[in-house]
Amino acid sequence: MHYHIILTETCNLKCKYCYEKSMQEFDNGLGEKWDYDESTPFDSTIPLGKLKSFLKPDDTLIFYGGEPFVKSDRIKEIIDNVNCKFAIQTNGVLLKRLPINYIKKIDKMLISIDGDKARTDSNRGNGVYDLVIKNLRELRSSGYTGEIVARMTVSAPDLFEQVRYLADLIDQGIFSSIHWQIDAGFYKFDFDEEKFKKFVSMYNSSIDKLLRWWVEKIRDGKVYRLYPFIGILNRLAGRDFETGLPCGSGYRNFTFNTLGKLSACPIMNSVKNFYCGSIDEGIKKDIHVTDEKCTKCNYFKICGGRCLYWRDAKLWPPEGDEAICTTIKFLIGSISQHSKEIAKLEGEGVVRWEDFDYEKYFGPEIIP
Ligand code: SF4
Ligand code: SF4
Repeated sequence: MHYHIILTETCNLKCKYCYEKSMQEFDNGLGEKWDYDESTPFDSTIPLGKLKSFLKPDDTLIFYGGEPFVKSDRIKEIIDNVNCKFAIQTNGVLLKRLPINYIKKIDKMLISIDGDKARTDSNRGNGVYDLVIKNLRELRSSGYTGEIVARMTVSAPDLFEQVRYLADLIDQGIFSSIHWQIDAGFYKFDFDEEKFKKFVSMYNSSIDKLLRWWVEKIRDGKVYRLYPFIGILNRLAGRDFETGLPCGSGYRNFTFNTLGKLSACPIMNSVKNFYCGSIDEGIKKDIHVTDEKCTKCNYFKICGGRCLYWRDAKLWPPEGDEAICTTIKFLIGSISQHSKEIAKLEGEGVVRWEDFDYEKYFGPEIIP
């Protein structure tokens, strides 16, 4: 099982699509719709002994925040005492707060980066790109061999250019893989029909271009680990029999909030409606997307409903959500068109199936 742990709600950055947007979202109606747990503290209060007895060696604990490295002493304490596998989702700025011998015990790191320096700094703050890349170069020089995922938040449609840029950093040995999620449907105030329609059309063209480039590289025997492509391909090829959300939230991945309750997803960690148990009781129930729009959709077994939060919150009007689904259907349809050729290349030994295999539920949502 995979578990996120919210170490703190504090973050050291003020990113555009997280901090800035939250500041503009005065009343999105979720306060009336959902039952928020007002008793959750800012920092995790879960006793170490409870974590130690709850987690099994095969489990993965994903450090999460806020920014988890703000609580680097707590990370050290957990690594020293808990026998399980570790991953982290971080903005990478405070990476050096954790000594390298501890970092080496974290198998996988999801690092927030949105593409090149201009794009990343514009979203995350001046100087962030250089600092993160410097930290990662030093990490690799110190012998860190774990997976480093470049985790992009996409709010402009030039995906092809930005992914190509990060793919060069894969070639340089900094990143191992790339994942992206589009910043759509997560805030009520930011829906602009005209603007988003344009985004969808340009984003889909960019997907098409990126996919063609990706397949061209596969023909040469090189598989770039782009999670949305790989994850969807796994399901299309019948190598992932799950039909729930590919992020695993609510059935393969749960989140310890700061109080020790288990929530379906890190984003809704203190919403009682999404509680599934606790560190004391264990997992009491699973939660899946049950919205008929999804369960009756032909793409449901591949898509799983994109995201529990988005599907339940319904912050955008139906036409906005439909437009988001257009991108998902286009993505799945496009990958499907290339799947036969990829299977053939695999059969010919140009690439191996292991090149497309991946550990599920450690962070990449798969459906952007
Ligand atoms: S494409 Fe849209 S409607 Fe279909 S399953 Fe995915 S999120 Fe649901
Ligand atoms: S995709 Fe949605 S449900 Fe899954 S982890 Fe992200 S916010 Fe949670």
